Amino acid sequence: MQNPSDELLSLAANIREHLSYLHELGVENAEPAIQEEHLPESSAATGRSDIIESFRSRSAVSQPSIARSVATTSAAAPKASRPLPKTSPAASDSLFGVLTPVSQRLEKTTETFEDIWTDVGNCTRCPLHEARTHIVHTEGNRRARLMFIGEAPGADEDAQARPFVGRAGQLLTKIIEAIGLKREQVLIGNVNRCRPPGNRAPTTEEASTCKPYLLREISIVQPEVIVVLGNTAMKNLLDTREGITRLRGRFQDYKGIKVMPTFHPAYLLRDPSKKRETWEDLKKVRDYLDGQRTNTE
Ligand code: URA
Repeated sequence: MQNPSDELLSLAANIREHLSYLHELGVENAEPAIQEEHLPESSAATGRSDIIESFRSRSAVSQPSIARSVATTSAAAPKASRPLPKTSPAASDSLFGVLTPVSQRLEKTTETFEDIWTDVGNCTRCPLHEARTHIVHTEGNRRARLMFIGEAPGADEDAQARPFVGRAGQLLTKIIEAIGLKREQVLIGNVNRCRPPGNRAPTTEEASTCKPYLLREISIVQPEVIVVLGNTAMKNLLDTREGITRLRGRFQDYKGIKVMPTFHPAYLLRDPSKKRETWEDLKKVRDYLDGQRTNTE
């Protein structure tokens, strides 16, 4: 049990870390907002233990690291005042979070990414092939613990045949680094592999034509966590009618894999104030992965 002044010091360190990550991600004017959110209204009027309690209950960054994985799981559960959104029918709540029945978990597979890409071939299965320059396959570490899924390539990705290399991709790289990972350590893919004209969202038909290749890649890698970036990725991986604003920040389930919905980096470029929420979501992912590592050590 930490003594109160150690605990205050550690809370202050957590808040400093929070601010430096927000700064890294380009969130402006974070300091006053953090103070409003996390500091007791009148610290002078309260005793020290009240201050700590107030910090504890308001600050998402105040959990000690070992307790974090447990706290994260419960933080992912819906609050009593907010009804549980409808998510994958495969998932059921339990004392231990969301559990997937064994029969619905991902099977082990012996195929390789190369097998899948051979099947994709010079694909003409949907109209998106007409305007594409390159097919953009999933990229990164095939033994990744963490995967990111976006919507479809944009102009830069179409030109370079690599996912998330444009402005949104550069922001995604910063987000990955903000949780202490390198881009090469994670896996990055899209629902669709060809650029939709004018960067429009893929249609339901285009998405369901291309998605099976992504799902086969997920079966090979079986990452511990998948971050779905924005509505298209979320709705194509999860069986949900909810929107990203409602589901973001709450762990969901895809065949036994934890799925964290969060905002798409292109949206963050349009509305930088949403970077703070994305950071909260990604911290839950980081804490979950840290907790898993601690549990298996
Ligand atoms: N947006 C996406 O959804 N995917 C990319 O690869 C690039 C931008």
